[in-house]
Amino acid sequence: MTQFNNAMDVFKLLEKTNCRKCNKPTCLAFAAAVFQGRTSLNECPFIDENTLNIYGSKNDKYESKSDRDYLEIMGQLKEKIKQTNLESRAEILGEKFSNDRLTLKILGKDFSVDVNGKIYTDIHVNLWIAPPVLNYIMSGRGLALTETWVPFRELEMSKDWSRFFEHQCVGHLKKVADSIPSFFEDIIELFNGKPVENHYDADISLIMKPLPLLPILICYNHPEDGLESDLNLFFDTTADKNLPVKDIYTLTTGLANMFEKLAATHG
Ligand code: SF4
Repeated sequence: MTQFNNAMDVFKLLEKTNCRKCNKPTCLAFAAAVFQGRTSLNECPFIDENTLNIYGSKNDKYESKSDRDYLEIMGQLKEKIKQTNLESRAEILGEKFSNDRLTLKILGKDFSVDVNGKIYTDIHVNLWIAPPVLNYIMSGRGLALTETWVPFRELEMSKDWSRFFEHQCVGHLKKVADSIPSFFEDIIELFNGKPVENHYDADISLIMKPLPLLPILICYNHPEDGLESDLNLFFDTTADKNLPVKDIYTLTTGLANMFEKLAATHG
């Protein structure tokens, strides 16, 4: 399979219309993302089958680097888990510990890690999900929820992450919500989301729990009278104590990516 030597090699294959169908602002941004392995060539709908066969739908060079990064980070976290007293961590977090495993719920589904750092779950774990969850297990303070909601930008140390958060997480979720009418029903049904009422006058508000002490309130307003739709996320005031902001960003952006992928399979 032919590999790209630089981003211009990718750019030459594109329509250069900046139509954004690939979710990138320009063809050049898309070319850079493909070369760096952050997206796949087949995300541009105008690339023909023949070209995909020549170059492959993914950048294999990066994929193996990404795999290596994942294995390296997970290896380090595994060592840290081995040095952590999971039984006492379970007590602090209010979670179950039995058979040498700490078990908690991610979006309503079981996620367990044993004293040797081995993970057991049906959830697809990747670099966006596993490190934040393991960091929560090892260092979350286990503070009880205040049930007072604040936006991401009001969490401690969020300044450096706010812009990325709005773009990579909120923006992507809004796009999915706008394009898939059943999106919120799906969250309720598949990911244990709980509808709530009277929050910020939103048309739809629901709470999902990526981690037991990290609930997220999603408020969505349908487009109306020429106004665009509106989606906002809110966190409990304890969120930044129960998980560092960097991990909150990683986890929520990982979830937004996961929802986007699920939305794509909706057809
Ligand atoms: S979908 Fe293709 S043509 Fe459109 S902006 Fe993305 S790369 Fe360019």
